[in-house]
Amino acid sequence: MNYLQKRILKDGQVIDEKILKIDSFLNHQIDPKVMHEIQSDFFDYFKSREITKVLTIEASGIAPAIMVAAHFQVPMLFAKKSEPSTLAGQDKFSTLVHSFTKNKTSEIIISKEYLNEHDKVLIIDDFLANGEASLGLIDLVKQAGAEVVGVGICVEKSFQPGRQRLIDAGVDVHSVCRIASLAGNKVTFVDEEDE
Ligand code: 5GP
Repeated sequence: MNYLQKRILKDGQVIDEKILKIDSFLNHQIDPKVMHEIQSDFFDYFKSREITKVLTIEASGIAPAIMVAAHFQVPMLFAKKSEPSTLAGQDKFSTLVHSFTKNKTSEIIISKEYLNEHDKVLIIDDFLANGEASLGLIDLVKQAGAEVVGVGICVEKSFQPGRQRLIDAGVDVHSVCRIASLAGNKVTFVDEEDE
């Protein structure tokens, strides 16, 4: 069992059969030790690949993404969920993403200034549920003519369709931990279920 799995068992709260709350170390308060362990897992998996940029979506993806970007020594770019006045009038890539937790569809944007056809992009996010956020980010990378190197996920809920949708899109997905079930107020990981 890796460090993130141990922390989920110790400090995670199962809200219902589909939602896990990890606000005490990742989604609200952030524990640097957890971030360190996560980034080293991503680095081990993707280190042989050429990566020029790490891309995520605000807000919860930013912490793990900046750690990974620091290790690869490349910039980290995050898609914004609303257009700030500083981006008004600039050329942008945009797409629509349906939020699993908020049950609402919103536009996400990045400035064309920061992504181009020479980029090799590693996408990082905190959770993978239906894959909407990751597929939205992949769409932005494709609009730029850049290459998606892979998707790195901190917590994958493997009982939801996100992973399969990404694999179907031809993307290399690596998750630090994979949750098989949240049934019965209990977290079961995929590797445990296989044992
Ligand atoms: P997806 O786009 O894959 O359907 O959902 C991923 C996004 O929804 C993540 O960026 C994350 O913010 C949020 N999310 C999905 N499931 C959970 C969950 O169980 N707990 C929390 N805290 N966020 C989640």
